[in-house]
Order: sequence, then structure tokens, then C-alpha cells
Amino acid sequence: MKLKSVLAGLTLGLSMGLMAVSAQVSAQTKGLIGISMPTKSSARWIADGNNMVKVFKEKGYQTDLQYAEDDIPNQLAQIENMVTKGVKVLVIAAIDGTTLSDVLQKAADKGIKVIAYDRLIRNSKNVDYYATFDNYQVGVLQASYIEKALDLKGGKGPFNIELFGGSADDNNAFFFYNGAMSVLKPYIDKGKLVVRSKQLGMDKVATLRWDGATAQARMDNLLSAYYGNAHVDAVLSPYDGISIGIISSLKGVGYGTPKLPMPVVTGQDAEVPSVKSIIRGEQRSTIFKDTRELAKVTVSMVDAVLSGKAPTINDTKTYNNGVKVIPSYLLKPVSVDASNWKEVLVGSGYYTEAQVK
Ligand code: BGC
Repeated sequence: MKLKSVLAGLTLGLSMGLMAVSAQVSAQTKGLIGISMPTKSSARWIADGNNMVKVFKEKGYQTDLQYAEDDIPNQLAQIENMVTKGVKVLVIAAIDGTTLSDVLQKAADKGIKVIAYDRLIRNSKNVDYYATFDNYQVGVLQASYIEKALDLKGGKGPFNIELFGGSADDNNAFFFYNGAMSVLKPYIDKGKLVVRSKQLGMDKVATLRWDGATAQARMDNLLSAYYGNAHVDAVLSPYDGISIGIISSLKGVGYGTPKLPMPVVTGQDAEVPSVKSIIRGEQRSTIFKDTRELAKVTVSMVDAVLSGKAPTINDTKTYNNGVKVIPSYLLKPVSVDASNWKEVLVGSGYYTEAQVK
């Protein structure tokens, strides 16, 4: 009896020990995840990459994180390399969402699952899930900010506005633009908003690679060609880096003084230079997209996919990539301006106050 219980105790102890060891081993071997990000030139993607690596590690995965510096062949080579290395899942924020079909076929042939991260990957059946924010709503929020700031609902106007779009190879850019136009177009049609340049539509207002310098050059041209004595009252900008370019251009011709007040300039990503600009009273608003949340959603998608479970999704109709509708999880974007930056950005622990002041 005694011996039996000693033995039982030993076995229990041993098996608990083994469990601990195997938990440790499996923690180290849950698999390698390839994370392909577009560029380090914008702080948001750096945060996205870092947040994902952190959460994947916590869950016991290894990661291979690569940035392609907005160079398409570079991104393709990095993804091919990940496929060769034997990653289990690819998480990709594409530079050009239409260029990945071949490499994704190679991945599919090896049974690698693919998650489109933030930006939809187009023209490929080999995309399993999409984790992003409600991109149409981003545009709605940007335009609603202008609508409110100019009191368009109260019947004020006419005001002059110019429109900027994102990169035309990024599916999101069209969602932002269309979301924004759903709010602005009725005022343009009624003549309460006037686009003096007449440049409307993504074919006219897009900004390749979301480049701030390109936007600055376009704003310079708009101001000199269409705004001799006229004042521009609002500029729809889809991204903080573009807003910074637009504001530099405006300052260059004297905007930002009591005589020539800054137009209402929107933005997106709540990047530090833009939050500082909002606090200074130059840029008026931005859209905060909590990349910590997007990382969590993505990691739990990966975790589900690899354990044969269905990931949580909340949208099954919006994102048709040209081949099929990709099941998606959409997070909520939040509009930020001088009145709520502290509560939203510092209160949530995204930034410290010192970082943005
Ligand atoms: C992202 C935005 C970002 C833009 C430029 C878009 O795909 O959704 O958050 O501002 O790319 O990097």
C-alpha cells in the first residue's frame, strides 16, 4: 500500500515534470510566423511590427519580421524567403496589393496560410483572412470632422476644399476616399464646398506610396494655380505623413497666421509629429488606429488557424479581393483632435504625454 502510494506520487510528480517540460518545448516550437511589413518610413508600421512580435512571443511563436522599404521586388523576395524557411503563416501588409499572386501560390502549395494585415491583398485566392480597421469609416470620420469644423450641417458656406487620396495601389485608399466622399459629395453638389482645382476622383487626387513630399508638391501647385486671392478652408488628407507635406506647403505661402488661418487639415494614424502639430493648432484632426489591438486580433487569428479552429470574424461581405470575399475582422477607428488627444492617446497608454508634447 505504502509503496504503491509512493510510486503513484512519483509517477504523478514525474508526469507533472514532463508536462512542464513539454509545455516549455511546445512554447518554443509553436512555429515560425512570417511578418512582412511595407516600410519603416512611417512610425505606424514600426509599431505594428513590434506589437505583433511581442504578442506572438507571448503566445509561444517565433517570428521573422521584415520591412520592404516600399520596394515591391524587395517585399516579394522577403516573402519568398519566408516561404523557403518554412513559416506556418504569413502575415502581410502589402505595398501593392496586386503583386503577390505568384508568391502566394507557392505559399499555398506548401500549405502556408495567409493573413492580409491592414491592407487587402487582391487578385489571389490564397488569402485566408483579413485583419484591419473599418476603412470606409476612417474616411467618414475624416470628412465628418471637416463637416463639423465648418458647420456645414448648420448651412454655412460656401467653403473652398481640396482633396488628397492615398496610394492607388493600396485598396484602403479607395475605401478612405469613398467613405470621405459619402459625407462631402452632397455639399460639393450643393455648392457649399467648392473644389477650385476641380480635381476629384482617385485618378486625380491619389498620392503614390503615401509620400508626403509628393503631396507637398501637389499642394504647392494647387495653391499657385487656383488660390491667388482665394483662401483654402479645408484639405481632406488621408494620412498624417501627407498632412505634414500639405501643411508645409501652406506655411510656405503664409498660412497659419491670424490673417491667413490654416485650413482644416485631417489625417490618419496619430503619428507623433502630427499629434504635436494638432497640439500646436496646425493639423486639426487625425484618426487613431490602435495597432496593439490589430496585433492581438491577428495573433488570435493565427492561433485559431493553426489549431484548426475558426477565427473570430465580424465581416463577411465588404472585402472582395477580385477573386473572393475575404472573411475579415474590422476594428473601430477613433477620431482625435485637440479636445481628446490626451484622453485617447495618453489615457490608453499608446503614448506618454512627454512623447507628444
Ligand atoms: C493604412 C493607413 C496608413 C497608410 C499609409 C494604409 O494602408 O491603413 O493606416 O496611413 O496605409 O501608410
